[in-house]
Amino acid sequence: MQRHHKQSWPRLLDSSKETACHFCDTLFEVELIKEGEEAVCQTCGQKLYRNRPQSLQHAISFALTGILLFSLLLFFPFMRLDAQGIIIEMPVVQAVKHMFDTGGWFIALSVALFAILLPLFQLVVILYICVPLFYGKTLPYVVQITRTLQTLQPWIMIEVFFLATVVSLIKLVKLADVELLCGFWSLIAIMICIAGAFAAIDRLELWDRIEVALQKRNES
Ligand SMILES: [Zn+2]
Repeated sequence: MQRHHKQSWPRLLDSSKETACHFCDTLFEVELIKEGEEAVCQTCGQKLYRNRPQSLQHAISFALTGILLFSLLLFFPFMRLDAQGIIIEMPVVQAVKHMFDTGGWFIALSVALFAILLPLFQLVVILYICVPLFYGKTLPYVVQITRTLQTLQPWIMIEVFFLATVVSLIKLVKLADVELLCGFWSLIAIMICIAGAFAAIDRLELWDRIEVALQKRNES
């Protein structure tokens, strides 16, 4: 098995990859760089990619923290509604059900998708990819799953969720006083964890690590 050992992230020796500068579209061959270093575009000086220190450990820690925070999100009240003296406090799952029952199916669906399903999916998938990679291994369908995660990533950004929350809040505020509680703040923390996990590892490094682990699996 031929692998680089000098540099910090593992890569197949015969692999050659190109990356384009996001700003000026110049193509560059991806050169391995040491941990903590970054490659910059020789034409415009913008950052191309970076070898982040302890990338897998950081991605795993962020994802695990996110999963733990999910228990707060699911079991603690999301918000308090005060509608003419009637006070309602409910966890997010119950709130989704309530919205669905009272005819707000579009908001119910958006909240379920952006506040529960997509964040949970991302956290679980990050762990599914990164934990085995930490030991130089991969689980089945890792290539397809990583592609799905990276395709979904731009569509499930924090802003999308905020938009959904703001829309639902505006709808609610008309009817009642709204106070945000533990469940809501844990969701914000979950979003920060997801952003942190994505930011912990460079896309190029992730694919190189997957390729090396796949080859190791094929050889054994
Ligand atoms: Zn450039």
